[in-house]
Parts: sequence; C-alpha cells; structure tokens
Amino acid sequence: MPTEQQTETYKLYLAGRWLATEHAIEVVNPATEQAFARVSIVDRQQVAEALSTAEKAFTKWRSLTAKDRGTLLHRVADEVRRRQDEIARTITLENGKPLAQSLGEVAMTEDHLRWFAEEGRRAYGRLIPNQVTGKRNLVVKTPIGVVGAIAPWNFPLVLAVRKAAPALAAGCTVVLKPASQTPLSSILFAECVEAADMPPGVFQLVLGDARTIAREFLENPICRKISFTGSTSVGQELIRGAAQFIKPLSLELGGLAPLLVFEDCDLDNAVEQTLIAKFRNTGQSCIAANRIYLQRNIRDEFLERFVAGVKKLKVSPGLEPGADIGPLINREALDSALAQIEDAVRHGGKVLCGGKRADRPGFFLEPTIIDNVTDPMLCTQEETFAPVAPIATFDTEEEAVMLANRSPFGLSAYAMTRDIGRVFRLSERIEAGTLGINDGAPSTSTSPFGGVKHSGWGRELGSEGLDAFLETKHVSIGGIDDRQ
Ligand code: NAP
Repeated sequence: MPTEQQTETYKLYLAGRWLATEHAIEVVNPATEQAFARVSIVDRQQVAEALSTAEKAFTKWRSLTAKDRGTLLHRVADEVRRRQDEIARTITLENGKPLAQSLGEVAMTEDHLRWFAEEGRRAYGRLIPNQVTGKRNLVVKTPIGVVGAIAPWNFPLVLAVRKAAPALAAGCTVVLKPASQTPLSSILFAECVEAADMPPGVFQLVLGDARTIAREFLENPICRKISFTGSTSVGQELIRGAAQFIKPLSLELGGLAPLLVFEDCDLDNAVEQTLIAKFRNTGQSCIAANRIYLQRNIRDEFLERFVAGVKKLKVSPGLEPGADIGPLINREALDSALAQIEDAVRHGGKVLCGGKRADRPGFFLEPTIIDNVTDPMLCTQEETFAPVAPIATFDTEEEAVMLANRSPFGLSAYAMTRDIGRVFRLSERIEAGTLGINDGAPSTSTSPFGGVKHSGWGRELGSEGLDAFLETKHVSIGGIDDRQ
C-alpha cells in the first residue's frame, strides 16, 4: 500500500502479469508537493502488445454468459469493498481529495461494478413483427471488441471504472490508461481484478506518454473503440485523429455548469446543495457549478448563508480528520485559479471570502466567492476547476435560461426551485446532459451521464452506459414456412 514517505516503483498489469519496465514516472502528493511513488511506463510497442493480448482474450470473454461475466464483476466489487480503506487513502495521497470523499468514490466504484454486473444480463435484442411472409427480423447486440479507455485524475478510480465495468459486462476487453498524476488507484483496482480471477488479458493497465498511447489506440485496428474522459481540447485532438481511422469515440469532456437559484426555493437546501455542487472534490469536478445565478429577491439572504457556509469549510490535507477542501492537483491548477480570481477583480468582481493561496505547503487555495461576475470574465467563460464560486444576478426565468445556455458547454446544470411547472420547463429547455433540481450531486450508476455541445459525445452509466460498448446487428431470416 502506498504511504506518504515511500518511493516504491509500481508495476503495470499486462496479460495477467505485473510488468516492471525500464522507465518510470513519479507520483506527487499535492498536499506536500513531494513525490511518494514511482510507476513503470510503457512504449508504443508495448501498447500494441497489450491490444493483441486483449484481442486474444476477447474471443473467450465474449463467449462467457453475461451472468458469468457479472459474477466475476461482483467478485471485483467484493475485493474493492474489502480494500476500501486502503484504496481511499491512496486516492487521497495521489489526488489530494478529503478522505471521506475518497471513501465515497470507492463506494460509487463498487456500485458501478455491481450495476453493470447486473445490467450486462439485460443487453436485450428484439424480435420484430413480420413485415413479409416467410421472413423474421431479429436485432442482436454484440460486444464492440477491444476498448482503449483513457481516464482523468479528478475522480481517478470511479471514472476509470465507469468505462471498464460496462465494457467488461458487455463482453469487451479493456486496455486502460489512467492519468499520469493518479495511476495508483488504478493499480490497486487491477490487483482487485487479479484477485477476482478475471481471465488474463481481459483487463490491462498501461501508462506512459498519453499522445503515444492514444495514437496506438487510434491507429491500431485491433482497438475498436476509444472511451475518453478529460478536457475538451484533448477530445478535439482525438476527434481529428479518429477521422482518419473512423474510430468510434465516447467523449466525456469539460463543463461550465450553471446553477440557478430561484426565489421559490427552499433556501437551506439550496445553500447546502450549492456548497456540494461547487466545493465537492475541491471544485475539481467536471460537473462543478461554475456559474451561480441568484434571483434578485433572494440574492442577499442566499449570499449571507452561503458565505457563512463557505467560511466553515476546513482547508487541510485530505488525510486530516474533518477536511473539506484539499489541495488542487498541481501548481498549474493553482496558478490558473488565481489568474481567474485576479481577472474577475480587475473587471469589477468583488471577493466575498477567500481569494488567495492558503498559507501552508501544498497547492491549497482558500475557498472563494466572487460577487458581481459578468460575462467577459474568465471565470464565466473557462472551466474553473477550483474552489471558486462566481456569483451573478438574474430577474426572470427566461433570463436565467438564456444565461444558463449561453455557453458552448453542456455537461450539467442545476436549479433550486419548488415550482413544479418550472421543473418541467427547465428540464425541456436547459442545454445539458444532466440537470440537478435541488440536487448538488446528481450522478448515479442507474442514470445516463454525459454532455451536449462541447461537453462530449455519448453517455456513460444507466443502460446507455452498457449500450456504448455494444454493436446493434440486424439479422434477417428467410425461408420460413408460415403456412403450417
Ligand atoms: P486531460 O488533460 O484531457 O487528461 C485526461 C486524460 O487524457 C489523461 O489520462 C491524460 O493523460 C490523457 N491525455 C492527455 N493528453 C492527451 C492526448 N494528447 N491524447 C490522448 N490522451 C491525452 O484532462 P485532465 O486535466 O486530466 O482532466 C480535467 C478535464 O477533464 C476537465 O476539463 C474536466 O471537465 C474533464 N472531465 C470530464 C468529465 C466528464 O465526465 N465529462 C469527468 C471528469 C473530468 P496524462 O495524465 O498522462 O497527461
């Protein structure tokens, strides 16, 4: 198990074995700015070998029943549950998030595994009513094949498993590339896969130069799909690369979530849910509230309570008891958040609390609220990915919807309201893949998750999450004697 002091070199999980390679990268604890582990990395040839191994494993894996694959996934989930404390500590060490939130991430990982273990059994086809005498038309679902999965650092385990679990349940085999900053939780996950006796080659782990690995996923015909979560700019690069090889892509990209607080809301719940939507994961969530719009009548009362709530948040290393706000992932993230605050102030924004780097080692930023933000400011145009809450005011529902949709992104959105008519109008008009009504944490295993506009293509989770790894085939059967 990784500790704060250790600098052990971790191996990669390939073809059912643990491989130490010639080169390694360091993993840094963002709470101390110190490297505490090293992980082997592979070159392009080794990625190609991993894909070949995955192709061989695919033949057997797809022929298992969905029930048998599900049993193995449940076993992985059992192992994740058994090692939850160790895995959560590792997430906190490599990512910085408060330990309680890491435990939440592990619990959600287990839930994803169990959901898809069951959902795999519901990859139903269809028998279509006859159109022509003597013929039948079937629709069958088949696994897409070998999948290349690329995951980000902000939820290092659950976002990797959000790809691996449905792909494996569907009968695909997976080569996973976690983020370089946070590979350790995926290594522990691979240990869980091994302990569950999953067949060798069904799930493999590679790490190395991201562009090189992605090139191999794109160009190697063995890889039949790439599932990517990360920034919109890398998503665009993958789209350009995929064009040449017609490589199917699922893309979970950036967000710029609006959060609308209407005058009819339950104010206590609205404040509580806004704190979650903004500050969970230290603001480094793709669905983090990035632009908070308050209706004029409740603006002052909401702000008073919101500022009081933010001032209570404890900023400390994630392993300290009671931590609410951990460090940002690295120095660039901290600098970029400080630049957004400075830009907002320069353009008339008013800092109500926080606004500066916390006075301690590590990449800590004080949780910040900026009032009077306006559209040209960077914090309303670019994903903040930090504990910074920009506040603006609106008068009417129509204006709120216009402001919410005035963004090229559309991953998630939030609204605090008790007006049922408004709930339906917003559900139909807000341009986002997920809408949280009085709910600051809307993501769950059972329901689809993904973006519109620049936030990506496709959906994860829910039944749609399984469908992303299935092909749909029409089988037309003739020569049936219908006269008997
Ligand atoms: P990122 O820089 O795009 O990295 C994400 C993953 O892509 C990492 O594994 C990274 O590898 C890899 N990568 C980097 N350059 C690549 C390239 N040229 N080709 C292929 N892969 C490449 O994003 P990030 O900074 O880690 O994550 C933050 C972003 O992800 C935010 O925009 C956030 O909104 C988005 N996100 C979206 C969702 C969603 O579900 N929609 C969820 C979480 C995060 P290395 O680490 O080795 O560079």
